[in-house]
Amino acid sequence: MKRFPAFIDLNARAAVIVGGGAQALAKARLLIAAGARPRLIWPSFAAGLRAELDGKAELVARPPAPGDFDGAGLAFIAVDGDADAEALARMAKAAGALVNVVDRPELCDFTTPSMIDRGRLTVAISTDGAAPVLGRKLRADIEALLPSRAGALADFAARYRGAVKARVAEGERRRFWERFFDGPVAAQVLAGDEAGAHETMIEAINRPSQEQPEGVVHIVGAGPGDPDLLTVKALRLLQGADVILYDRLVGEDILNLARRDAERVYVGKANAHHAVPQSDIEARMIALAREGKTVVRLKGGDPFIFGRGGEEVDALRAAGVRVFVTPGITAATGCAAAAGMALTHRDYAQAVTFVTGHAKGDADPDLDWAALAALKNTLVIYMGVATAAKTAAKLLDHGRAPSTPVAVIENGTRSDQKIVKGALADLPALIAAGRIEGPALLVIGEVAALADGQTLLSLVRQERSAA
Ligand code: SAH
Repeated sequence: MKRFPAFIDLNARAAVIVGGGAQALAKARLLIAAGARPRLIWPSFAAGLRAELDGKAELVARPPAPGDFDGAGLAFIAVDGDADAEALARMAKAAGALVNVVDRPELCDFTTPSMIDRGRLTVAISTDGAAPVLGRKLRADIEALLPSRAGALADFAARYRGAVKARVAEGERRRFWERFFDGPVAAQVLAGDEAGAHETMIEAINRPSQEQPEGVVHIVGAGPGDPDLLTVKALRLLQGADVILYDRLVGEDILNLARRDAERVYVGKANAHHAVPQSDIEARMIALAREGKTVVRLKGGDPFIFGRGGEEVDALRAAGVRVFVTPGITAATGCAAAAGMALTHRDYAQAVTFVTGHAKGDADPDLDWAALAALKNTLVIYMGVATAAKTAAKLLDHGRAPSTPVAVIENGTRSDQKIVKGALADLPALIAAGRIEGPALLVIGEVAALADGQTLLSLVRQERSAA
């Protein structure tokens, strides 16, 4: 450690900033965020600074004088090029203030770290001025892992410190708090359900300490495949999971982002055969949560779009297990972005409909084909490759033009993404010529013409030249 980190209470001390421009404003913002009312001293202040700091800081429009630093705890010299920063620093130091000179580490008594501000919870990173870019990068990494409501969680814990001290025996307290931060109460606070969290917390405090720890299940959307399309929250939950139950659509590159010692359980389906029946998956999650585990149920795309996430929530709730849902980017929006095709491009569509090609145990769902065939409606069909010929025939029967553009996107957003496009009348031929085998979406409607991808004609030509 090159410098001593400390968190300073600025309510009790004056903080002085010398300067009137952008640097001074940046320091003032930091001090105000820490609850201070800084005093800025400089002959002139930028108009933007005046406007922003109005009522939040004291502006003294004259050159600084030695007496200005009397009683100041911290002083920032935030002046530009021509001013004599060194002399100003000397003046402040002579009055006993700790001094920071912007961009002059050799003159600094203290430096300002890269910071993450979550209210009561603060993370500060220093490289001793050696590599500020590294500091900022680490800050971004930690920022991604730290829930945005982490400060609220610290506040929540602060409110119960006394009660926990009174009700939980000393030897048990540490374990109590560990369970608290891993368990359902913390999950509720982080999800924004403070009222529910208070209820659960009061139950927990009043429960004898030897009782079963309570686990929690997070049903998490993993997005369409590209790991960069995970949500920040999904990433954080993966890093905090004890057990991850994942589907076939979730790739290795996403699983590798999980905590290294998390247990991984594959519960996906191989082809059309159900490797693990849905009821077993649900029973397993319930059992793991009852063991006190933090379970992440990781599902492709968004858990509530054709993902059976709804059934899983029902089963967990019925078993009294706390369950939280984190949305993901669904295949339709992920694939549309990857194909450069706006699903509701104003010129072509006023609606978009997500349809499954497979309803519950039924390969030919009883859909309202007339409505689906309506003009200016983009149809996105999930799990629709096997039934594509039927779908095309139904839409044609209900008046959709044979020339209606279609696009088939396989493994969208992944490195092996494939897009083929053509006309509705040729949909089965397109799928055959494109050799579509992986998870794929059908997009039917005028916007499909906008997709980047090979046309049926070019596929057929390719086929011929290969033969
Ligand atoms: N919950 C998921 C969908 C599950 S159903 C979601 O929100 O995306 C599975 C179907 O989703 C697949 O048969 C396929 O039609 C579609 N799908 C999922 N990922 C896909 C991808 N990367 N590219 C194309 N289609 C995909």
